[in-house]
Amino acid sequence: MLITESGKEAMLYHPLDGKKVKCDLCNRRCTIAEGKTGFCRVRKNVNGKLRSLVYGKVIAANADPIEKKPLSHFNPGSVMFSIATIGCNFRCNFCQNWNISQSDEIQGEDLPPEDVVKLAKRSGCQGISYTYTEPTIFFEYAYDCSKLAHDNGLFNTFVTNGYMTVEAVKTISPYLDAATVDFKGGGDPVFYKKFSSVPNVGPIYDSLKEMKANDIHIEITNLVIPRMGDSLDRIRELAGWIKENLGGDVPLHLLRFHPDYTLKDLPATPQSTLEKTREIAKSEGLRYVYTGNMPGHEGENTYCPACGELLVSRYGFFIESWNIKDDMKCPKCGENIPIKGKYWKGKSGRSALFF
Ligand code: SF4
Repeated sequence: MLITESGKEAMLYHPLDGKKVKCDLCNRRCTIAEGKTGFCRVRKNVNGKLRSLVYGKVIAANADPIEKKPLSHFNPGSVMFSIATIGCNFRCNFCQNWNISQSDEIQGEDLPPEDVVKLAKRSGCQGISYTYTEPTIFFEYAYDCSKLAHDNGLFNTFVTNGYMTVEAVKTISPYLDAATVDFKGGGDPVFYKKFSSVPNVGPIYDSLKEMKANDIHIEITNLVIPRMGDSLDRIRELAGWIKENLGGDVPLHLLRFHPDYTLKDLPATPQSTLEKTREIAKSEGLRYVYTGNMPGHEGENTYCPACGELLVSRYGFFIESWNIKDDMKCPKCGENIPIKGKYWKGKSGRSALFF
């Protein structure tokens, strides 16, 4: 497959007067003049047609444990062929992958969808994850890979900031099995404006509702940043919204911040802050609240919300012990544990770098 400099024609856009186009893929809804790119830098108006410049241009590919996404209630223990292109529709000051998400240069290995699926199967993966940067901005590529993945018995997961339009969610939904939707700072609109250049957080909630309506498995993360994004009231509000709109069984992962990019002077989030936020989220009625980026902490484990039995013990991305019956019930009290798919025993924690 030859991807030319001007890429592949985009999905989800419409023409405007004077050869301008409007992109309908994410909620920035950029109006793009002839010869210009959108905010994400990877979608360009070429002669009045919007083109994706990163179709098939993979900047990172790894086989990762699904727990790394993190997804704890979807095919646990499976291994995901994980890919990204450059570009992002956010500008987060604390991005861990800023060198690829904020790159100005279109770069990457040419890897057509057929080869992605072949590599995923050859490396023993059960699914494909579109991750590291924002999958929305390489939507056409993710869409074609996902379709082919389903034809080949693989599942698909997005790790996303959730800023895609409702149209985009609807379009990908036949092929998207699960999504990790990442919040930062508890969803505080002021925080999003200041540290991620996002004008309005409302569309993220709309995407989540659309995902639920389309039966996509959802897990939510929230990055807890000390001093700036660790308000307990915001966590309370976010947890309450999840309970009310998505249900108390949706897992919430509270992630520890590590200094990165332009926020190198801040300390890592104290363990006690994560523990406090976890208690608050649970008190709002969420039954599965995890801590992340603190290997060995009990917040990584799954406990039965009815009887307290330890069901899954984890260390980082590894499953150390599994104590749930094959029908996903607690062995002690019979409580139904909402885990989709199956436990891929023996695969847990496998990881390999491709490029
Ligand atoms: S995907 Fe890119 S071009 Fe399209 S609206 Fe979002 S930022 Fe703009």
